[in-house]
Amino acid sequence: MSERAWDLCSVRTMIMVCPEYNRSHQEKEEHMLLHLSIHTLYMHPQSSGTDTLQCFIFPLFKILNQNLLQASMGMDGKKLEYKGEDALRELEELTIKAKEVQDSILKEIITRNGASEYLNKYMQGSIDLLTFKTRVPVITYEKIQPYIQRIVNGEDSSIISGHQITEMLMSSGTSCGEPKLMPSIAEDLDRRTYLYNLIMPIMNKHIPDLDKGKAMYLLFIKAEKQTPSGLPARPVLTSYYKSPHFRTRTHDPFNDYTSPNEAILCPDRDQSMYCQLLAGLIHRQCVLRLGAVFASALLRSISFLEKNWIDLCRDIRTGHLNKSITDPNLRAAMSKTITSQDPQLANELEAICSLRTWKGIICKLWPRVKYIEAVLTGSMAQYIPALEFYSEGKIPLVCTMYASSECYFGVNLNPLSYPTEVSYTLLPNMAYFEFIPLENGLQPNNEEKIEQDKLVSLVDVKLWCYYELVVTTFAGLCRHRVGDILLVTSFYNSVPQFKFICRRNILLSIDTDKTNEEELHKSVTASKKLLEAYDLLLNEYTSHADTSTIPGHYVLFWEITNTSTKLSLATPLNAELLQNCCQVLEDSLGYVYRRCRSHDKSIGPLEIRVVEEGTFEALMDLIISQGGSINQYKTPRYIEQGQALELLNSRVKDRFFSSRDPVWSL
Ligand code: AMP
Repeated sequence: MSERAWDLCSVRTMIMVCPEYNRSHQEKEEHMLLHLSIHTLYMHPQSSGTDTLQCFIFPLFKILNQNLLQASMGMDGKKLEYKGEDALRELEELTIKAKEVQDSILKEIITRNGASEYLNKYMQGSIDLLTFKTRVPVITYEKIQPYIQRIVNGEDSSIISGHQITEMLMSSGTSCGEPKLMPSIAEDLDRRTYLYNLIMPIMNKHIPDLDKGKAMYLLFIKAEKQTPSGLPARPVLTSYYKSPHFRTRTHDPFNDYTSPNEAILCPDRDQSMYCQLLAGLIHRQCVLRLGAVFASALLRSISFLEKNWIDLCRDIRTGHLNKSITDPNLRAAMSKTITSQDPQLANELEAICSLRTWKGIICKLWPRVKYIEAVLTGSMAQYIPALEFYSEGKIPLVCTMYASSECYFGVNLNPLSYPTEVSYTLLPNMAYFEFIPLENGLQPNNEEKIEQDKLVSLVDVKLWCYYELVVTTFAGLCRHRVGDILLVTSFYNSVPQFKFICRRNILLSIDTDKTNEEELHKSVTASKKLLEAYDLLLNEYTSHADTSTIPGHYVLFWEITNTSTKLSLATPLNAELLQNCCQVLEDSLGYVYRRCRSHDKSIGPLEIRVVEEGTFEALMDLIISQGGSINQYKTPRYIEQGQALELLNSRVKDRFFSSRDPVWSL
């Protein structure tokens, strides 16, 4: 076939395979454009097939696809803008026709991104779903990272995507200590908004009259930077709160927030928290629900309130905003909230806040609250007891959604289920989902290479089986292992509902940090070197996330022996040395941990608890006595709770804390 004939053939094929083409309401216009492009091929006979496709056809398809995607995201051709009852109807249809929706999503992703350097390497021009499933490898972030890095450095988005990458979303997962960067395209914001818009109609089915008051959500942005190519690199929530989708949202009685946008968008966390709490207290009689995205942030806000209520009450009493709030936008916005002196409210609040115990403080401060919303599944489950303490177990704890920087996954259709029972329904129009079965029960599959034919599609997962989630996104991630382990607990229409079990390999997490065994080991290795000069040896170690205080902190249990005959076992340890060990540990942990510690202040100083010699042998005896195998025994690198933790704590000789923030820069 001549090259030009091939070009024309490609164009025709592309026209034919584009499923939405014929039914699009922009049919005429696009038809004209396509004719024009075919004409262009004739007019530029000197250009090669690839050139022609790159220069004329792909840009054209970019325009075409943008329109088509918008049209095809809803089952009935509407955009991703459903609200209220419409959103629930759409959800019903999506979950009934999940297989069709998933197939068309994959087809669309391949059509749009097929020409990208990454996908084309495997698909070689094919747009066939089966070809995708047999040829495209299942990968971890490390395999796509070099491509992402090239875009970060200024190369074209077409390396991985048919669309312009508009930002890089900084995930809380790290790779070699650095945050993973997930590509994002403009329309991803529509997809996130679509999911947010589902929450209230779902909630409203279970709890009526949520439009009769306000929502006190404590939302925060985090530090962001620019890539060398000028793209913003920031966490997904920061991106969302800064987007027009959030900032210029239309007023909706179901989403009437106490916090002014300026307070949410204030980069100074203390000023932001202070003003959001102040607004929440001023509107205390109207607040019908309260929360934060993650339970850790909500508890930090309560702890902040504990430290600052006297100042907050003073502001309410005098009608003047505290001078420590220096952000001019924030001051201007708060002047609309704090409009006059209110000594009566200040007296009420002071009486409540000065009570001997803060048990049930949420019910007392916000007496009309119908539910508390925060992620309390996965690693956040450790905060359930604390929130139950502050709400006296009287207010439902609601987990509404499951999402990530790669893509927003799904919602909880039974929001009143207790956090440990929550399952999320994956929305089939968010991305293309596949699942790696965990064949040995809960044993995560840490193999580098996953055979393509092992993967199971969304509607084919089996009840009560464990899987690892794999996504293919519009922005250009193909068969990317998210790392989350999920259990199928039920089906909603044809869509499975998943309980979040854990994240593959993650040992420690206090806030949005996620530290895996390898990262912990690397920092312990760096830190224990300091001991050598003192003839000390780290025998064994394990870790624990201590959330008994807010903010929580990492604890390392260290068993140290003297290697010198000069030192007796009873010689006290050098405090400065052990403090330095804490600091080296922290400096060697990942970016997100160090940001949480130094910038967000959402993690407290790391602690080393030195245990008596023989403690780890006793730990082994305990675990074996509880049914562990002696032959396969390995020291657990993380102890969550129970007898093992009690044993370790009962043998602590000394405790040391890091005395400065770890090194961190944007
Ligand atoms: P990030 O990479 O920072 O966007 O974090 C996304 C990860 O946070 C997910 O892959 C999960 O591991 C975790 N996550 C998000 N939402 C939930 C949830 N509702 N329950 C449990 N874990 C969650």
